[in-house]
Amino acid sequence: MSSSAAQQIPLQLEARIAQLAADAPTQPWLGREQKQALRAEIKQLLQTQNAQLVAHYYVDDELQSLAEETGGIVADSLEMANFGAHTSAKTLVVCGVRFMGETAKMLSPEKTVLMPDLQATCSLDVGCPAKEFGEFCAAHPQHKVVVYANTSVEVKALADWVVTSGNALQIVRHLKEQGHKIIWAPDRHLGNWIEQQTGIEMLRWQGHCIVHDEFKSYELQALREQHPQAKVLVHPESPAAVVAQADVVGSTKVLLNAVQTLPDAQFIVATDYNIFYKMQQLAPHKQLLVAPTGGHGATCKSCAHCPWMAMNGLQNLRDCLLNQAPQIQLDETIRQKALASVQRMLDFSRQTGLVSAAPSPSS
Ligand code: SF4
Repeated sequence: MSSSAAQQIPLQLEARIAQLAADAPTQPWLGREQKQALRAEIKQLLQTQNAQLVAHYYVDDELQSLAEETGGIVADSLEMANFGAHTSAKTLVVCGVRFMGETAKMLSPEKTVLMPDLQATCSLDVGCPAKEFGEFCAAHPQHKVVVYANTSVEVKALADWVVTSGNALQIVRHLKEQGHKIIWAPDRHLGNWIEQQTGIEMLRWQGHCIVHDEFKSYELQALREQHPQAKVLVHPESPAAVVAQADVVGSTKVLLNAVQTLPDAQFIVATDYNIFYKMQQLAPHKQLLVAPTGGHGATCKSCAHCPWMAMNGLQNLRDCLLNQAPQIQLDETIRQKALASVQRMLDFSRQTGLVSAAPSPSS
């Protein structure tokens, strides 16, 4: 089998992803006083409902700072899942995209899991439908099925392992050492990078993240020439020609660590630019530049900011707490099946020190 062994996504699905991204509603503009009033109301609701905010690095600064101020967490999807499973709060309010809410509910079925907008999806999730993926897996029964966290609960239920960008490399390496063949889904660029790093060849699903897929290598080269001192930080969901120019490649956590610990003063960052909120907090005197998404062949469905992460705002966050809706609900049989593969990932991550056994708030 060659590393080009792959399952293409039908054109209709690509068109649907583009349409969903274009249709994602933007949040209303709010003045300072409106924001302050909403923040105060949300803090009150969180307290009275024994609820905690679980926010991703890519959501709006307002939501990240609220999570920090109220004892919740701002994190990548791995830490979000781990935090939700350990907190004593009765309700989790997941500010991110739908699969993150599903993972929270999967791990904490006794908790109420609210989200500001259940339509906040992910191109990787939409691009890997459970029916088609199940057929693909059934055609290759001798393979271990490894799926990225950015998938539906139904797809996770088909998997042997769930991984995130924070532990994918270590888990695939572990499976390779045990002599397993692997089906990888759904991100084609992350799969390609893992193949290069581990030397394993996988059967790869050809999904993509519309944010990272748009970073442009030619334009990045030009930006580097303008800023020769800048270090280039790249998330591995980006195309190979962009990854090839990176000084550091890794998950959001790895990129945050690089900004904080490297001695350099300037960074070009190829991931969702809302991560700058946390980067500036950790390294306030460093200059951050967004890697280019415009230029030759640009489609700019996202322009370095996820349209579905952007569906989380102060107003719909307040509303979901007030209404106790929308809530994540999961079919119990599917939940149990998916849980086994997520739990395998969490156990592996805790044993290898990739996440702490008892996560601290606002990491
Ligand atoms: S940034 Fe990409 S991977 Fe993350 S939720 Fe948005 S589309 Fe999905």
